[in-house]
Amino acid sequence: MPIYNTYMTSYEENYLDKRPQDLCHMCGRCCRVVTTTRPYEELVKMAETGDEGAYDFLKIFEPYVSLEEARAVDKELVDNVIQRSCIDGNLDKSELTFYKCKYLLDDNKCSIYEARPALCRHCPSTPWAVVPPGCGFEAWLFLKREETKQKIRKSKEDLLELKLLRSKMKKPEDLIKIDAVVNKIYGMIESYKKYGSENW
Ligand code: SF4
Ligand code: SF4
Repeated sequence: MPIYNTYMTSYEENYLDKRPQDLCHMCGRCCRVVTTTRPYEELVKMAETGDEGAYDFLKIFEPYVSLEEARAVDKELVDNVIQRSCIDGNLDKSELTFYKCKYLLDDNKCSIYEARPALCRHCPSTPWAVVPPGCGFEAWLFLKREETKQKIRKSKEDLLELKLLRSKMKKPEDLIKIDAVVNKIYGMIESYKKYGSENW
């Protein structure tokens, strides 16, 4: 994917187990032009101070010297990222660096496939991963995002019913049981907060 994250939660690990890898049609775009959610200088500092994700990333990816050099390789992808990050997301264009992988072969195969780092094996790591336009995972990621949103909406309805039920209960042991379920649901909604669950 063109925007790599260096963090992974247990939800994301579960999601990876279900990802149909055969959807990838090996276009190589996610290896040829990628960017990160953090500026290059910050990644370098993170790698120097022991961040494994940043270290792995910089071990395989080298920066393009300019946006124009990256655009010459994949104009659609670069312009798409600039649109999403700088125009929709208010990020300064000068903070964006694009990278290419040193191990991508001309036929789009990975020359270190068996030894590729976790960030490659986990890509796309969540339904919210930004993939290049036309990526084989696009439609499946969309469906997974919608499924997740429906699950959260249903949980919010359950919360309302549980609150109503709680207001009718008297026994302390019943209240404890309901509170445990309510807290579990709040925890689940919180785990999707970074993807916007508060507004679903
Ligand atoms: S962009 Fe998508 S389809 Fe192309 S190689 Fe990457 S994961 Fe596969
Ligand atoms: S190491 Fe292989 S899979 Fe990972 S970005 Fe490079 S070419 Fe792609």
